[in-house]
Amino acid sequence: MPKELCKCGQFIDLGAIPNPGEWLLISDVEYDRYTGTVDAETLYTDMKSMLLCPHCGRLLVYWQGFGSEYTTYRPEE
Ligand SMILES: [Zn+2]
Repeated sequence: MPKELCKCGQFIDLGAIPNPGEWLLISDVEYDRYTGTVDAETLYTDMKSMLLCPHCGRLLVYWQGFGSEYTTYRPEE
């Protein structure tokens, strides 16, 4: 089953669809291009994936898509 390793050592499951640990992001500018009835699959292609580590709370954001490296954001102490 596909999974991602967080820097804290926690594995984050990527296999579930929908994935309870994954969030989808879209910029306000990109979203503003949509009007009326929106096709969910088209909207999905414009969104970026973000994982929330259930152990440390880090956010792993795939700005360039799942095939590329992610950028990590860690909560303040
Ligand atoms: Zn973590």
